[in-house]
Amino acid sequence: MTSSSAAIDSGLTSCHTCYQLVSTGAHRCPRCHSKVHARVPQSVQRTMALVMTAAILYIPAMALPMMTTVSLGTPMDSTVIGGVIVLWNMGSYPVAAVIFIASVFVPVGKLLSLSILCWYASQGSSNPKQPTTMYRITELVGKWSMTDVFVVAILVALIRLGDLLSFYPGLAALTFASVVIITMVAAEQFDPRLLWDTARAAENE
Ligand SMILES: [Zn+2]
Repeated sequence: MTSSSAAIDSGLTSCHTCYQLVSTGAHRCPRCHSKVHARVPQSVQRTMALVMTAAILYIPAMALPMMTTVSLGTPMDSTVIGGVIVLWNMGSYPVAAVIFIASVFVPVGKLLSLSILCWYASQGSSNPKQPTTMYRITELVGKWSMTDVFVVAILVALIRLGDLLSFYPGLAALTFASVVIITMVAAEQFDPRLLWDTARAAENE
């Protein structure tokens, strides 16, 4: 493992807002006057606190009804998984698959990978390239995490066949949206440079 010298060793860091090079002693960026930190302060603690909050909120998001389907005048509450089964039985396989991936794979995967990244950042890794790749994938996948809230919103807006078949959003839609937003903030708080700091510190010892 070779790593070149880091800007922080030369007493330099970059502004989070405008990327101006600033000396580490400065409190404010001379160009845009934003607060300057060499690394996001308490990055791991903040990320983990938000990850735990999102994980707790994920329980009601799964347990509460995501949507109410009114079919021939009979209302039926369905959770996310229940909704996936209803849609699958109706023959809407792509929609069912999209909702399943967006509501189970993406949020659970993102929370798990953020936890693993926090563990790497605090414990250090001999090869930070692996967690860095994980960080990139987490960032990429995260862009699709609102998909199922949109799918439910679209279903609600499109399918209103009166007494025949209607969809109404349930309480879980709100809880799920907060899970997604909190996870987005958690990812934002994670400073990937920490992954390399511990490796560099181990190398310098
Ligand atoms: Zn700036």
